[in-house]
Amino acid sequence: MHAAQWAESMRLAVRHAMASQPVLIPVPVNQFYQQAGLPVVEAPLPTGLESAIVLGVGDPFVLLNAQLGPFAQRFALAHELIHYWYHQSILPYFPSPNHYQSPLDTEANAGAAELLLPYPWFMTTAHQVLGQPLRTLAAFTAFITSPDARRWANQARVTVPVLGYHLQDLGWAPLGKIGPTH
Ligand SMILES: [Zn+2]
Repeated sequence: MHAAQWAESMRLAVRHAMASQPVLIPVPVNQFYQQAGLPVVEAPLPTGLESAIVLGVGDPFVLLNAQLGPFAQRFALAHELIHYWYHQSILPYFPSPNHYQSPLDTEANAGAAELLLPYPWFMTTAHQVLGQPLRTLAAFTAFITSPDARRWANQARVTVPVLGYHLQDLGWAPLGKIGPTH
């Protein structure tokens, strides 16, 4: 399977799992941690290491980089929660040294975006904000750097790049490099 298929099957799994729950925006990530009984330990991790889930050494817990902004922390927590929910049985193959190279991390990133931008809410707001999919990278860059994109991302408490990648992944924007958004 290719990375895009791993990502899509994880999005569908999370979407299906969440379908029986009321949609709350922003998504209560901390509540999911409480329900899972999964502790979070904030620590001054090295730059570039956003978070990690520690499994197989006593009770599992998540290490979270204390220097991340609040929205980046939410994404990191959602990412680790996807590992916790879906990847525990394949423990010997992770944690991986690099968040962005293994298929598990491709899945965790896709699942995290799906979790934080729940499908029914995301589609409704996409229709309200955009009306129809953006056809060109220029239109996408113009949108993603606009106050509308910032407001939309803020509602869900995600960073603008996470919103941008999700728009691309769900076909609301063309694939390609997002313009400067920081
Ligand atoms: Zn990961």
